[in-house]
Amino acid sequence: MQDVIERCRRAGYTVHATSTKTGEGLAAFSAALAGRISVVTGPSGAGKSSLLNRVQPGLQLRTAEISAKVRRGKNTTVSAVMLPLDAGGYLVDTPGFSEVGLWGIEPGELDSCFPEFRPVLGECRYGDCRHRTEPGCRVREAVEAGQIARDRWESYLVLLEELESAPEEWE
Ligand SMILES: [Zn+2]
Repeated sequence: MQDVIERCRRAGYTVHATSTKTGEGLAAFSAALAGRISVVTGPSGAGKSSLLNRVQPGLQLRTAEISAKVRRGKNTTVSAVMLPLDAGGYLVDTPGFSEVGLWGIEPGELDSCFPEFRPVLGECRYGDCRHRTEPGCRVREAVEAGQIARDRWESYLVLLEELESAPEEWE
């Protein structure tokens, strides 16, 4: 677990390690949500509900506003719900999602979603570089040089493939 946390931090993400049993990390996590609109996602059984109920007991009962409808695949519609937080801000809960979707991202924008790619973006030889096997690709050079973790780049390639083959759109 510590390894995963370190790798995410190195990639440029803020990580809050929390425990609903010991209460560890909950105060910092709650503070990070205050005054913002945050999306909650993760596989079923990951403990989202337990975590959110520790952030604000009774939160799940206060569901109110339907904020957006998303069409996934063939006529499957699910709702996202905005839950107001006492500390200000909202949580966007996404019941029915088993994993993170990629709505509204253009394939050419995906690279900027990887924080550790950003320092070299715009420096590739070709302006429309997708960072696969193009010559003069700075992202790939950074992977070879160990500045970007190889498995992160591989994740990028998988997601890129997904976006290019089956785009999903907001209604
Ligand atoms: Zn490139």
